[in-house]
Amino acid sequence: MTQTQRLTDEIAARSDELTALARELIRIPTLNPPGEHYRDICEFLAARLKRRDFTVHLLRATGAPGDSDRHPRWNLIARREGARPGECVHFNSHIDVVEVGHGWTVDPFEGLVRDGRVYGRGACDMKGGLAASVIAAEAFVDLCPGFSGAVEISATADEETGGYGGVAWLAEQGWFGPDRVQHVIIPEPLNKDRICLGHRGVWWAEVETMGRIGHGSMPFLGDCAVRHMGAVIDEMEQTLFPALGARRTEMPVVPPQAQASSLNINSIHGGQAELPGDFTGFPAPVVPDSCRMIIDRRFLIEEDLAEVKAEFAALMERVRDRREDFRFEIRDLHEVIPTMTDRDAPVVGAVARAVRRVFGREPEYVVSPGTYDQKHIDRIGRMHNCIAYGPGILDLAHQPDEWVGIDDMADSARVMALALAELLA
Ligand SMILES: [Zn+2]
Repeated sequence: MTQTQRLTDEIAARSDELTALARELIRIPTLNPPGEHYRDICEFLAARLKRRDFTVHLLRATGAPGDSDRHPRWNLIARREGARPGECVHFNSHIDVVEVGHGWTVDPFEGLVRDGRVYGRGACDMKGGLAASVIAAEAFVDLCPGFSGAVEISATADEETGGYGGVAWLAEQGWFGPDRVQHVIIPEPLNKDRICLGHRGVWWAEVETMGRIGHGSMPFLGDCAVRHMGAVIDEMEQTLFPALGARRTEMPVVPPQAQASSLNINSIHGGQAELPGDFTGFPAPVVPDSCRMIIDRRFLIEEDLAEVKAEFAALMERVRDRREDFRFEIRDLHEVIPTMTDRDAPVVGAVARAVRRVFGREPEYVVSPGTYDQKHIDRIGRMHNCIAYGPGILDLAHQPDEWVGIDDMADSARVMALALAELLA
């Protein structure tokens, strides 16, 4: 029997174990924010992987954003050395899940199994992928004990809130350095036959227009900051949105509508703070002297961050040319440079060949519209041989009744195990 066949059979034999593991992970409610039960899930995985002779490190990102004694940012790195020196293949999964939200018909933290699916918050994004990578790694080290190099599994905090208490912190400490890690696979839910090469860029900013406070019965004695912001939005509708929508990328972003530049207005607030729901009085008649808007600009690998910012600043200048007393500020909040791994990178080739063997067809190469932890591995870790590959349907992420298919987890675990066998032969 070939090694491919043996690994395939072994993963199939462990399908129930894979489902059980995904359920156990879902049952640890690692909600972020605020970042609950990180230590519990790291200890659970550490105990399991120690039994397979992984060396485990529990690492707290002390001082990272969000880290506190009440909600410490715990991370796990587990490494299994092979019989000979060689390269290291690293699977990185985030352990945090987003809030539950409304609209669920099942218990979000029970790990219900029904109709070939495991349900729960984080089932798809991304405890199903984490479980698949653990089963793949275990099957591989059990069946191929003479492998060269090392297999690493990390379980990291805070991806949903930027990854600063997780992968970014670990990368700063050198855990993703090219001296110790040579291939990275992030089992985010991109579908089992797709290889995600990277993501678009991000610029978040707060835009504020300033006015002058006055009495609401005599608005001419004040200067309304909300009307100034209205003029900004009108200019965006007239010039910026059409320009962004017409700008297309060579990146294979999915869904295809995201192959253009985009901008979302995340929030807007002007004037008095909203009154609490139990307040029974009236608001006061006041001309707003400030209006603030948060923008979320997603940009393409063909665009330059400085040009993205300059384009928005030029828009504000056009509004200023038309309006009296127009004053504004733009404050940067957050930025991520786009990243895209080469299609001929070694990890891409190995996973592509494994996809071909398991499914009998070419993988689809995609790019994510939003960012994920690859940004830190790329920028801080300087590790460019990195992809996202994992089970689950991306559209289900963060939705009510989130689920992952049991067959999808097993199929992607086969792909992961075959890729390990090739890279660590
Ligand atoms: Zn995710």
